[in-house]
Amino acid sequence: GDGWLAEHPEAEQITRRYLANLHGLARQALDRLNGQEAEGGDAGTMESPRKATLHEQRLRVVLDHLKGSGAESVVDLGCGEGKLVRMLLQERQFRRILGMDVSYAELAKAMRRLHYEEMAPKQHERLELIQGSLLYRDARLTGFDAAAVVEVIEHLDEDRLQAFERVVFGAAQPGMVIVTTPNAEYNTVFETLDAGAMRHQDHRFEWTRAEFATWAERVGQEFNYRVSFASIGTEHEGVGAPSQMAIFTYET
Ligand code: SAH
Repeated sequence: GDGWLAEHPEAEQITRRYLANLHGLARQALDRLNGQEAEGGDAGTMESPRKATLHEQRLRVVLDHLKGSGAESVVDLGCGEGKLVRMLLQERQFRRILGMDVSYAELAKAMRRLHYEEMAPKQHERLELIQGSLLYRDARLTGFDAAAVVEVIEHLDEDRLQAFERVVFGAAQPGMVIVTTPNAEYNTVFETLDAGAMRHQDHRFEWTRAEFATWAERVGQEFNYRVSFASIGTEHEGVGAPSQMAIFTYET
């Protein structure tokens, strides 16, 4: 396509068709045509040097914090289809991994994606996937060095958040809790979102950075956790980054 494809109005379709079924290559080719060499960076893998999606960046940031904390046991609360669980499994540091979700369909997907049934015994021993709700106290969640709650709180009704707090920070009480949630202020940057709309149909709320900070600091005080904050994704002037994260550390 040298010399004509980049300018062609159907460049995307032509490239895709030409590289049919080779999605990774099509993406690389398109990135190159657009003059944006994939900045895969940390989140990109060798096989897929495309730009990391926001969610991949988010999971990578969470993973890095978990690694840095020295945690050996991690519970992924609202693990969904198991993207973070898969990353945790790849790190030997994590000797015990528990994935929990309320949705059986998501858990089934996770089992398929992780090849749970065919897993080598050594891996199998490290991992458990369970169905459960974050709104009910659950003894299976106790005794972990760290918990990840990635893009989950905004799926809970705001008036049930107190139940969630008691279950996670009060009863399960992991040494560290990492919570991520969208930054509502950033929504104006997404061209496809109507003003005031949320990013996902099932989101019950989306918080500004100030709202998230107020909640997290109150929770920290109430349950004896020190809190720090970090942003995820590229910052945009005035509105911050697309996603926000609070890191809670239990104070003994
Ligand atoms: N953490 C995953 C999934 C995020 S989507 C990821 O980052 O990829 C939100 C997930 O929270 C869904 O899988 C949903 O089933 C789960 N969820 C919603 N309410 C829940 C509850 N009360 N208890 C446990 N999981 C819940």
